[in-house]
Amino acid sequence: MKLPCDVVTDLITIYHDRMAGEETIKAVEEHLEDCEVCRELYESYSMAEDEFEDAILEGPEEYMRQEFEQVARRQRRRRYFYAGAAAVYIIFSIAIYVYVLLDQLKERKYI
Ligand SMILES: [Zn+2]
Repeated sequence: MKLPCDVVTDLITIYHDRMAGEETIKAVEEHLEDCEVCRELYESYSMAEDEFEDAILEGPEEYMRQEFEQVARRQRRRRYFYAGAAAVYIIFSIAIYVYVLLDQLKERKYI
């Protein structure tokens, strides 16, 4: 029995995780032997899965730590942005205040 590519695509995950039945395994293997497209798909899926498993094997704490670090980094960047925006706003306000003040002083001929 020759499986079409989209069926093999659906089966690749259970085939990789050794959850497929004997007949399915045989049919997928037969297809992978002949079909380069599906073989590449299977290889890239295996690689992605291995990376994920490595991350899990490093320990969920390590995985979570990296995730938290990423979120913290993003929040820090946002905080710097708001702090910068606030600084610009304050400097402009002071500049405008000083300008208006000098203008009034000139009008009243204090300067
Ligand atoms: Zn195929």
